[in-house]
Amino acid sequence: MQIPSPVRHILTTLEAAGFEAFIVGGCVRDMLRGIEPKDWDVTTNALPHQVKSLFPRTFDTGIKHGTITVLQNRQPFEVTTYRVDGTYLDARRPESVTYTAHIEDDLSRRDFTMNAIAYNPAYGFADPFNGREDIEQKIIRCVGDPAHRFGEDALRMLRAVRFAGTLGFTIEADTLDAISAQRENLARISAERVREELTCLLCGAYPQAITLLETTGLMPHVLQSRTYEGDLAETIRQVEKSPADEHLRLSLFFSRFEFVEKVLRALRFDNKSIQAIRLYVRLLPVPIPADRYTIKKYLYQMPAAYAQLFFENLLTLQEITQVSDPAHITQLRQISRSIHENDECYTLRGLAVNGKDLAALGIPPGKAMGDTLKSLLDAVMRDPTINKKEILLSRI
Ligand code: ATP
Ligand code: MG
Repeated sequence: MQIPSPVRHILTTLEAAGFEAFIVGGCVRDMLRGIEPKDWDVTTNALPHQVKSLFPRTFDTGIKHGTITVLQNRQPFEVTTYRVDGTYLDARRPESVTYTAHIEDDLSRRDFTMNAIAYNPAYGFADPFNGREDIEQKIIRCVGDPAHRFGEDALRMLRAVRFAGTLGFTIEADTLDAISAQRENLARISAERVREELTCLLCGAYPQAITLLETTGLMPHVLQSRTYEGDLAETIRQVEKSPADEHLRLSLFFSRFEFVEKVLRALRFDNKSIQAIRLYVRLLPVPIPADRYTIKKYLYQMPAAYAQLFFENLLTLQEITQVSDPAHITQLRQISRSIHENDECYTLRGLAVNGKDLAALGIPPGKAMGDTLKSLLDAVMRDPTINKKEILLSRI
């Protein structure tokens, strides 16, 4: 196992001070799968104030839960004191956390066996729940009794499905049964957390796992008390063909929803995402004529900062959903690229005249000015050669 040097430094610093320290959780799981971990978490029996005293640059990000962020080579690493969770009151958060002296206790509070492995180069693995074997067999299995563990924290049910979609693992039978039995509890999880897991599931390399939302009965709770609109099997086939881009895959997932914006708002998506997904969903089913002027009209509607990319993404979606045939899509792509390469104007900002120029001609600000600019833009979209100040002013 290749542990990056800043992480090794954190481990050895803690050990030199007489503490135990391990890398733990997702990073150990991913290393065992032969995949570069996204981030590295350290667990230790040192208390938060002791961790802080050993490193020059730290932040108290999660200190209530025993987590200190250590900056090493300008990168952040989370160092968390071994802990066990107190009683769970709200199906999500433990009432309190208690520090413990034993790594096994810390591992026992973790959700799945594959996530409950700790490693240290000198000690080797701490793997009391045979997580390595489950990783080998590609199995997602709760640590301890699934019914109890999902009762503590209902988000774990959705995490199981999400990991199935990102890792391509199978959820073990008892764990799966417990999800079906406790699905109602997902309603107690905040919409934000559900949104994050859903997005992550959709962007996974194994979209087939999305069916688990239906088979376990989690779907209506994921959708904030709605049923799925559309043919899920068809959606999954489409998602499989899509780049792993959040907006694209979400647009495919929600493409048949009558009130897309409502469900996105209920899931507390940010405004930019809502705008983008709504636009993709609205434009998706409508074939686009391969005509320069029409394409500029499309580009005009799109977020100005990335209209070109947005349009190309729309074409990708139309290709996946077979709204138009591939040859037509290629043609549209070529036209849109050549509009870009020739720097042809399709926005008010790109127009050779602006509000000031019109005001100088005596056109008052307001509707008259707006209409004039729009009609000039329309003319320029049809004929880019007239986008010159003298020509446009003479036309007014
Ligand atoms: P990812 O690669 O998606 O980050 P991860 O396993 O690192 O996966 P995190 O959410 O970063 O997931 O959590 C880090 C670790 O904390 C997990 O590996 C697991 O051991 C533990 N953990 C996280 N969420 C829970 C939970 N809801 N219940 C129990 N343990 C959890
Ligand atoms: Mg992680």
